[in-house]
Amino acid sequence: MNTPDDLLKKVISHCKEYGFIYPSSEIYDGLSATYDYGPNGAELKNNLREYWWKAMVQMNENIVGLDAAIFMHPSTWKASGHIEAFNDPLIDNKDSKKRYRADVLIEDHIEKIRGKIQKEVKKAAKRFGESFDEEQFLNTNPRVLKNQEKISSIQERMKTLLDDEDLKGVKELIEDLGIADPVSGSKNWTDVRQFNLMFSTELGSLSEGANKVYLRPETAQGIFVNFSNVQKTGRMKIPFGIAQTGKAFRNEIIARQFIFRMREFEQMEMQYFVKPGTEIEHYEYWKKKRQQWHELLALGKEKYRTHDHIKLAHYANAACDIEYDFPMGFKELEGIHSRTDFDLKGHEEESGKKLRYFDPEENESYTPYVVETSIGLDRLFLAVMSSSYKEEKQKDGSERTLLSIPDFLAPVKAVVMPLTKKDGLPEKAREIMSSLQTELMCKYDEKDSIGKRYRRQDAVGTPYCITIDHDTLSDNSVTIRERDSMKQERVNIQQLPQLLEEKTSVSHVLKSLSAD
Ligand code: ATP
Repeated sequence: MNTPDDLLKKVISHCKEYGFIYPSSEIYDGLSATYDYGPNGAELKNNLREYWWKAMVQMNENIVGLDAAIFMHPSTWKASGHIEAFNDPLIDNKDSKKRYRADVLIEDHIEKIRGKIQKEVKKAAKRFGESFDEEQFLNTNPRVLKNQEKISSIQERMKTLLDDEDLKGVKELIEDLGIADPVSGSKNWTDVRQFNLMFSTELGSLSEGANKVYLRPETAQGIFVNFSNVQKTGRMKIPFGIAQTGKAFRNEIIARQFIFRMREFEQMEMQYFVKPGTEIEHYEYWKKKRQQWHELLALGKEKYRTHDHIKLAHYANAACDIEYDFPMGFKELEGIHSRTDFDLKGHEEESGKKLRYFDPEENESYTPYVVETSIGLDRLFLAVMSSSYKEEKQKDGSERTLLSIPDFLAPVKAVVMPLTKKDGLPEKAREIMSSLQTELMCKYDEKDSIGKRYRRQDAVGTPYCITIDHDTLSDNSVTIRERDSMKQERVNIQQLPQLLEEKTSVSHVLKSLSAD
């Protein structure tokens, strides 16, 4: 059985060994918290991005795509509030010299209390057996109630302190809770101070800061500044959405936990423009819709939970995170936010240009409200890898390492393998490979024994292996072996394209999404 720590370590080394993710510029010993996606990683990432894009843009008539530049006019970040307020509260431990986000230290402390509640629940479930009523237990058990009260009071105190930017108070809270440095156990903390997360650089030839530009810390602002362009050129009617995927950059205080928190990462964001007053209805819709989208990834329903924000940003009137049970515990995977008209109004003021919508049905013009869904592609990648990684004992005592990646996401959908390198089998296999290659990502493999080839494909998550043997030449049939069950079936070559298409294409997943 893997401990969470083991699992993360194993996923990291598996990613490297099988061409999913390498440390960036590794020949120079890498660059902290920066990673490169290898051949299999690039495929998986493309497939995840495609699933998101198709679910958003292809499946919704009123959502369109955008690909905005990473550099934007510096005023963008003034209007959005990033220059002034895109800060994290930073704290250092004087003994270990380690740096932390103060709010994360407090959240981790809350998570420990939650862990205690979960322990009580497990114990009681064992004691009461079938008759156990979890809800009743949570509402009545004195120890659970005491811990829940503790959580609420810490959360409330933290919210007030962060809202008031009371950094002294945040430090006091850390001290009152007796939070120690997770590495050294020391409680010798510095004061808390704010740290701006934006990277900046100079555009063109240098001249006293006038040409200072920022690497975008989120893709959303590219959507807001293009609101009128897209609305007018696409003749979009409210409600409508603009979707975008792309790189974002944040100088994170502590970037760690592999690709969970990086300084350069990819976001997939959709901003949905709605009539003011209807935003909560749309927010609820997108909250549900995004959960369905995640469920269809088949990573396990129990691996998700939603967490409503207690500390709402000053411009938001509702917000939640979809959290995933990563190897290091439940953490944010996606955010859904009702952002009011904060961004469009901010850009109107800063640019002096109107960013309004004339509603022909109401015969009035207004600044739309925005509901946004924002997910990190790299975090999604980690969720898929960590839920798919398995070590299985075989009947013969041997072990296999397997990535049970959902078929439609697998980097390679099928591998074509001649049983031997002679007797015309490679030629037949190449013929089959050519007939499949135009429809789906497949590979050819004739090296080593069939058993070894199966193991190689299991390790990179290829769902189907197609073996060409001597019978193939006479009866036109092949053996198709499924990765997870290892079941083998004999099928006619003619049936292969349709069979593989049905099993591995994203279309059937999109159909289920639209049926819900
Ligand atoms: P966190 O609280 O974990 O720092 P956030 O609330 O700042 O995240 P958002 O600004 O809502 O994150 O960004 C939307 C999404 O972008 C997040 O849900 C996450 O999946 C992803 N994301 C944010 N920061 C990073 C990062 N440093 N590395 C990888 N993905 C990230």
